[in-house]
Amino acid sequence: MKITHDMHTHSTYSHGRHTIKEMVDQSRKIGLKAITISDHGRSHPLFGVRKRNFVKMRREIDALNAKYDDIDIYLSVESNLIGANGDIDIGDEELKYCDWISVGYHYGYVAASFSDFFRFAIPNYSAKILPFIRQRVMAMNTRAYIKMMDRYDIKLITHPGDKLPIDIDAVAKAAAEHGVLLEINPRHDHLNVEEIKIAMKYNGNFAINSDAHCIEALGAMGKAQEIATTAGLPLERIVNISD
Ligand SMILES: [Zn+2]
Ligand SMILES: [Zn+2]
Repeated sequence: MKITHDMHTHSTYSHGRHTIKEMVDQSRKIGLKAITISDHGRSHPLFGVRKRNFVKMRREIDALNAKYDDIDIYLSVESNLIGANGDIDIGDEELKYCDWISVGYHYGYVAASFSDFFRFAIPNYSAKILPFIRQRVMAMNTRAYIKMMDRYDIKLITHPGDKLPIDIDAVAKAAAEHGVLLEINPRHDHLNVEEIKIAMKYNGNFAINSDAHCIEALGAMGKAQEIATTAGLPLERIVNISD
């Protein structure tokens, strides 16, 4: 099994170690057919991509696409879910430069609003140490993911359920309805085998991505391949691999 299109990779525009050009050159070397550069959304004060950099990234990627005919290079962003109403941290001013977008949940972001800081961010931190609020937080997060898919044109949810509890059954159902891919990610613990088995009940599809932050990790599936196989996920439901 081999990744053909690595849809989730980071460059020096957020906190990856290598430039877009270096990531693309390595992708060609290992025979990827396509790569998407998806640096972090702007709500991360330290490593989110600055708005002004999208135009530069677009230009670099357009130039590389013109130069190479053995690989397709896409610009995306791993935006952040930042509020209980499904807000994400990407606006039209960034969107216009992107080929498509993915969304994940991460720590350390700036919440959508003052109220989301208390209503969404703090409870998600607290749920780790206060098990009795976990159910309530999970219901809120699940609603947030579903609203997000209603509101935005999203192609991929990165590491669903990592760093925040969600009801994977309800999220997978909505993802299937909206045609949103669910990611199996070697760097994170979710989706796991049990979650894939639940998500498989619906007719949505999946992607395995490296989440590479350096050239050495590009195209690497790590444990993701075994997780997908153990769950019994039919390979034709993983959109970006070949046998
Ligand atoms: Zn992520
Ligand atoms: Zn990532």
